[in-house]
Amino acid sequence: MNNVIAIDGPAGAGKSTLARLLARKLKYRYLDTGAMYRAVTWLALRENIDLDNIQGLTSLANNIDIEFSPPSGDRKGRIYVNGNDVTEEIRTPLINKNVSKVARVKGVRDAMVRQQRKLAQGGHIIIDGRDIGTRVVPDAEFKFFITASLEERARRRYTELKEKGTGVNFQEVKAEIARRDKIDSERECSPLTKPEDAFLIDTTGMSIDEVLTRVINIIRT
Ligand code: C5P
Repeated sequence: MNNVIAIDGPAGAGKSTLARLLARKLKYRYLDTGAMYRAVTWLALRENIDLDNIQGLTSLANNIDIEFSPPSGDRKGRIYVNGNDVTEEIRTPLINKNVSKVARVKGVRDAMVRQQRKLAQGGHIIIDGRDIGTRVVPDAEFKFFITASLEERARRRYTELKEKGTGVNFQEVKAEIARRDKIDSERECSPLTKPEDAFLIDTTGMSIDEVLTRVINIIRT
């Protein structure tokens, strides 16, 4: 699929920062699929749906209304669930803790993938997640698999949370990321794995500008 760029990788690898910068540079849209799984988790918790209730979660994912409003000027993009602005609430430790449990449900994934493919129509889009190159758009023009050591991913996430003023503990952040990666890569349905035809970029020790330059060089050659 022309003009579609898929970015996959584990938690905290810098996918969304890269995707945002790349989207701005190429004047493409950006779809954060992790935000969609977070949105389903937010609604499930709000509606007191047991996270082991496969049918309840599937039905919720089939009926949820997720809307994105793109960034404009200095204003960051927003995400709405059934009309509620949940942009900040989907990034809390509570959602981090539960999202992988919700994302391993096949019915939830099927519903999200359907929406993601619809959003990808028309191209000129960068999509990031865990199964973008393997399942959502296997025919994407470019596929990247972005990773970094667990230590470095945890350090980046920790710094980000501290800057936001969230009281966090480094070891907890690291354990949380490791736990999420384990569930994401061991689940039955679309586990996190590098697409065979993806460019692998290990960003350990690289700055975001270096990563961006590497990606742009690949796209332009
Ligand atoms: O990308 P982010 O860390 O926000 O994703 C949150 C969670 O959503 C992941 O840990 C994973 O469980 C799930 N996810 C997924 N498939 C995607 C994107 C995210 O399973 N395409």
